[in-house]
Amino acid sequence: MYYNISFDIAAILVLVVLAVGMKTVLYTDTRGHKLVRTYVYSVIAFAVIDVITAYTICYGSMVPDFLNLILNSLYHYASVLTVATAMRTILNYYPSASKTSVMINRILIYLQAALVTVNLFTGCLFRFENGVYFHGSLYYVGYALPLATVLHMLYVVLINRADRPGAISKIILLFLFLPTIFTVIQMLFVDVLLIAFGEAFSALIMLFALETPDYRKLMKTMNELEIAREEANVANRTKSDFLASMSHEIRTPINGILGMNAMILRDGKDPQIVEYAENIRIAGNALLSIINDILDLTKIESGRMELISDRYDLFKVMNECYQMNRMRAGEKGLAFTFENDPKMPSEYYGDEVRIRQIINNLLSNGIKYTQEGSVLLKIGFVESHKASDSGGIYGILMITVKDTGIGIKQEDLGNLFKTFSRLEESRNRHIEGTGLGLHITKMLVQMMQGSIDVESEYGKGTVFTVKIPQRVTDRKPMGDFAVRLKEHTSVAASATGTFKAAGRRVLIVDDVKMNVLVFKGLLRGSEMTIDCAYSGAEAIEMTERSKYDIIFMDHLMPEMDGIETFHRIREDEKNINRDTPVVVLTANAIVGMRSSYLEEGFAEYISKPVEQERLIAVTAELLGIGR
Ligand code: ADP
Repeated sequence: MYYNISFDIAAILVLVVLAVGMKTVLYTDTRGHKLVRTYVYSVIAFAVIDVITAYTICYGSMVPDFLNLILNSLYHYASVLTVATAMRTILNYYPSASKTSVMINRILIYLQAALVTVNLFTGCLFRFENGVYFHGSLYYVGYALPLATVLHMLYVVLINRADRPGAISKIILLFLFLPTIFTVIQMLFVDVLLIAFGEAFSALIMLFALETPDYRKLMKTMNELEIAREEANVANRTKSDFLASMSHEIRTPINGILGMNAMILRDGKDPQIVEYAENIRIAGNALLSIINDILDLTKIESGRMELISDRYDLFKVMNECYQMNRMRAGEKGLAFTFENDPKMPSEYYGDEVRIRQIINNLLSNGIKYTQEGSVLLKIGFVESHKASDSGGIYGILMITVKDTGIGIKQEDLGNLFKTFSRLEESRNRHIEGTGLGLHITKMLVQMMQGSIDVESEYGKGTVFTVKIPQRVTDRKPMGDFAVRLKEHTSVAASATGTFKAAGRRVLIVDDVKMNVLVFKGLLRGSEMTIDCAYSGAEAIEMTERSKYDIIFMDHLMPEMDGIETFHRIREDEKNINRDTPVVVLTANAIVGMRSSYLEEGFAEYISKPVEQERLIAVTAELLGIGR
């Protein structure tokens, strides 16, 4: 039988060029490169012996049998060597492959080598008799073992492929398959020696796809970048966590300060002292708003900012914004006007708190950066379509804030919404600010799928326009803001801002004494009996003894926190306050908390610092008292 050795010769030529190339221009001193090089050498050895044995088998009658046996055994050893180096090359890419996998791989290879050695003495794989080649009884085991090795490696690559970018695993699978396919073809056409050619192919792919110096460099750089990115992320997270916990820690004492100060403002008789207290209130609120901005920023950066949507009354939102800002505008002598389309719907579905925050940020900037003239808020609604199935009306809420202030230079407009960016620092040094407001505003608007635009003429004034998609929940026309404001003010003036509920009993649970004091102070006018507990355990004890109309429960307390205390009261069948409404109090301003507290079973949620208005509203509501 004659063999066609042309593929072997081609493989040898290619591999020799490759081997020289890898030692010279393509050289890199890495383990992967070294392994591919060893693979190339072993395939060269294999192909050379393949060519020799092709002749010695052909001319068997002229070659002594023992020499043929030795040469063919060398061919098989070289074959085992190529399989072994190929497997090591692959394993090098999967350092996380289990020890068992590596061990199985080794055993399979040792078995192949052992079989060739045993064959020398027994002829179990093949033998020569008078120059003729005969198969032994284990001939097919000689093929089954390398096949098992390849299959096992296929398994290793597949289960560890998450370790590596997808492309790498694909190339490795190709590296594994090519020689296998060529071996199968050779089994079908025995006279064409193809295996070495297939292996040369796979060596080329391996080298140029994964082991060239450029590729190595690229991979190294990518790895370094990945590590640097991870480090930067960790550092950023640490910073965010630090800022979040610092602001949280600062909020608690400020709440105490502002709460006590509210008491001085209310009960103070000496005008001088009341004036001092008023200054404390202004400075304290400014500090609180900076801290809230930092908390918001850290929440946005860490992706923890959530919108809480509910039905809201637009007049109420506008009125709150008006009340918040009118004093400061008045102090500066600015005309402060709110306008709206009286026919626009009165109630919408969205995050009221965040919409108020957006409007307030723009208004307070308008007032801050305007020395004379006016600040105007204009609100309108452009209906876009009716959703036929839900019957809802959708549209765009248009919020425009226009001022006649210092304006913004055209070239600065691009930097306006960046964090900590304050324009013209020297000129605006005397104006308070952190450069966070507009960044947060923009983020909030984007979270609501809206947009914010600015137009400005330097020295003349600025117009911010915010467009937010909203759903209408009540089409009733809102009416003219200015007209309603007048009515509302006269009603509000007649209300006392408090209520009477003598005979009612509430319990306040908070581990911080000052908070309890502030709280009691805020409800003092109500004539209710107010009991205090300074820990969860104490609260449970007290709820077992007396029946309360409302329990106000701080969330964060040492040992047993508010939620656990709440559940213990709820789950104790004998507790007489099992059904008493419990209102959770928290300085934990993480958005999304409100709904999770309500799901937990709390009747309401009040955030600290406790505002008297809100406290009274919640209490009156739960007691069923109209104010
Ligand atoms: P700050 O806390 O400094 O006000 P902002 O993020 O709210 O931070 O605003 C960023 C910068 O944009 C401000 O420092 C100011 O230079 C400029 N700016 C914002 N609003 C106005 C406005 N209405 N008129 C002029 N400049 C403004």
